[in-house]
Amino acid sequence: MATVYYEQDVKTNALEGKKIAVLGYGSQGGAHSKNLRDNGNDVIIGIRPGSSADRAKEDGFEVLDVPEAVKAADIIMVLLPDEIQGDIYKDQIEPNLEAGNALAFAHGFNIHFEIIEPKEDVDVFMVAPKGPGHLVRREFENGSGVPALFAVYQDATGNARDIAMSWANQVGGGRVGFLETDFKEETETDLFGEQAVLCGGTTHLVQAGFETLVDAGYQPEIAYFEVLHELKLIVDLMYEGGMDHMRKSISNTAEYGDYVSGPRVVTEDTKTNMKAILDDIQSGKFAKDFRADYENGFENFESMRKEQRGHQIEEVGETLREMMPFVKENAVDTDN
Ligand code: NDP
Ligand code: MG
Ligand code: MG
Repeated sequence: MATVYYEQDVKTNALEGKKIAVLGYGSQGGAHSKNLRDNGNDVIIGIRPGSSADRAKEDGFEVLDVPEAVKAADIIMVLLPDEIQGDIYKDQIEPNLEAGNALAFAHGFNIHFEIIEPKEDVDVFMVAPKGPGHLVRREFENGSGVPALFAVYQDATGNARDIAMSWANQVGGGRVGFLETDFKEETETDLFGEQAVLCGGTTHLVQAGFETLVDAGYQPEIAYFEVLHELKLIVDLMYEGGMDHMRKSISNTAEYGDYVSGPRVVTEDTKTNMKAILDDIQSGKFAKDFRADYENGFENFESMRKEQRGHQIEEVGETLREMMPFVKENAVDTDN
């Protein structure tokens, strides 16, 4: 079993007296920088001019361009989109790193797949909160936190693990628990989770159910409620108490149907396909394809995005959500 660490396990604050630069002020960047500043740390933002830079200034941060921020800082946390980190590292970060600096990430992608090959004289660590940035910030403001993973890839100074643990603790992980991993495990499991289950699996399951009902002649609005809207209630119950807790709150009819029909949807073939997805992640094929598409102007990415945005479930959903103000009240602005 993995050891879970809490606030009291972090005896010294290894961030004390250090200048911290957070590169990027998007989902994760905003959350890490604000939570660390609220803990009394000296945080600046390194970013290009634009809407994120404006937001960081409005939030009271000193904002520099990336090379200047790297130069000024002892600890550099890279919270830029994964696909651009390699180029930015080469052109703007590496030339300004000093021996004994610490280079940090919230996802192991670029280090694990060797897109970034860090200089040997710097610490390299990761702190990956297991949630989107707005939750990392909101839970912190509520006096709680989001569980986090931390890992050390390279320990040049002998302090890398202490720095990583202090960061994981102060970003909010210490209040709810944080776990140690390595770059390989975090990268491969994170990619697999989002592809096979959380994002890819769920969206395509919901769409297939919607299409099955609509093709059979049922009203799209009814189909939307049955396969998308109600999903949140079920997931909330699983989140709170696991499968059994969820199954206790649904009807016996629903629970019986769960047991007899679930295995007809998710079959041995599904698991064979999941294993193939994991193989592509482990071999580096997924990372290579993603990078190749990025270098090709994300042609394939944009065309898949466009196709998905045009799905009928999106149109129906937009109309129905207008009728449900309670859904919109809690909506998160994901457009930054
Ligand atoms: P976002 O896309 O939300 O934010 C990226 C930031 O980088 C923006 O502020 C953007 O500014 C800035 N940026 C983009 N291009 C450049 C550039 N060329 N030079 C300088 N700044 C630039 O990213 P995320 O927060 O989602 O992801 C950051 C990291 O965190 C990734 O490694 C990701 O895997 C990881 N992560 C993300 C999670 C999430 O839930 N989102 C969860 C856990 C880890 P601008 O407004 O100018 O474009
Ligand atoms: Mg991810
Ligand atoms: Mg029902």
